[in-house]
Amino acid sequence: MRLAAAILLCVAACGRAHWDGGDPALYGVLLEVEPGAPFTDSSDFRLRLKHILDATSRYFGHDPSELDGLRIVVRNHWQSCADRPAQVAGCYSTDDNTAVVSTAGFQCIEGTAVAHELLHYFIGDFQHTDPRWHAFGPLWSEMVPDGCRPFSTD
Ligand SMILES: [Zn+2]
Repeated sequence: MRLAAAILLCVAACGRAHWDGGDPALYGVLLEVEPGAPFTDSSDFRLRLKHILDATSRYFGHDPSELDGLRIVVRNHWQSCADRPAQVAGCYSTDDNTAVVSTAGFQCIEGTAVAHELLHYFIGDFQHTDPRWHAFGPLWSEMVPDGCRPFSTD
């Protein structure tokens, strides 16, 4: 009940839902992990996710503190998003300010759709018409370990 009230208040004040209880070590992101999702049992999982949040935010000209109130759900399978029937590796919904990303089928956490969904968080653009969708190369070079193929919609 308290959470629902907080979300409603912030929808009015902030323009989108704000999830309380986020992890201060993840810039206030509320992280939910589905059992069995690859990489999530690793001892450095949160540290590596934090680096993705930090590097992606800064790469696109934002401070990672702007992620406060975002919810990220890490799944162990692909899913369909909203009105699209296709199974995809990630979705971001402004309705509930939640990014859902799958780690299944990826070689490293940095190569998943997390960075892609973060750009949706910052700019929306669900039709992918902004040129920044084709500018992930330098970010991948900085962030993704050798031998790991990054997610791409190109
Ligand atoms: Zn997208």
